[in-house]
Amino acid sequence: MIFRLLLAIFFVGLVVYLFRRLVKSFNKSEPQKKIDQFDDTVSCEICGLRLPKQDAIEKDGQHYCSKEHAEQ
Ligand SMILES: [Zn+2]
Repeated sequence: MIFRLLLAIFFVGLVVYLFRRLVKSFNKSEPQKKIDQFDDTVSCEICGLRLPKQDAIEKDGQHYCSKEHAEQ
């Protein structure tokens, strides 16, 4: 009976430890991701507006801020 209780306490402690490690690594990787997104900007070939690469429209290897500029 006491052995089972100790096993349960050990198991709960292990889960809490693993969960804290997971949260720590998650918090660590999050700002790194934001910095990468911030660095990955391109400027529009028409008006020179800087915007994140994933928001830009790519056409023939050039980047544009909007569909209108991409078609010019
Ligand atoms: Zn533009």
